[in-house]
Amino acid sequence: MELNKELVCSQCGGTAIGKGKQSGYSTVTPYKKLGFGSSLVHLICTDCGWVLGSYVEDPHSFIKTIK
Ligand SMILES: [Zn+2]
Repeated sequence: MELNKELVCSQCGGTAIGKGKQSGYSTVTPYKKLGFGSSLVHLICTDCGWVLGSYVEDPHSFIKTIK
């Protein structure tokens, strides 16, 4: 996933945004579906620690997990 727009922290207005990755036992796995989990990536303000947002690295794993 590419982020083209500039990220600004909604709490402190900082623009020094870092990326954190949640993986290992904390991967997000498709609901009621066999498959590999996807790592969760967090966008974090490096000034105040606010998490601007999160996304999974492989969104296609989650297709058709809600009926
Ligand atoms: Zn901030």
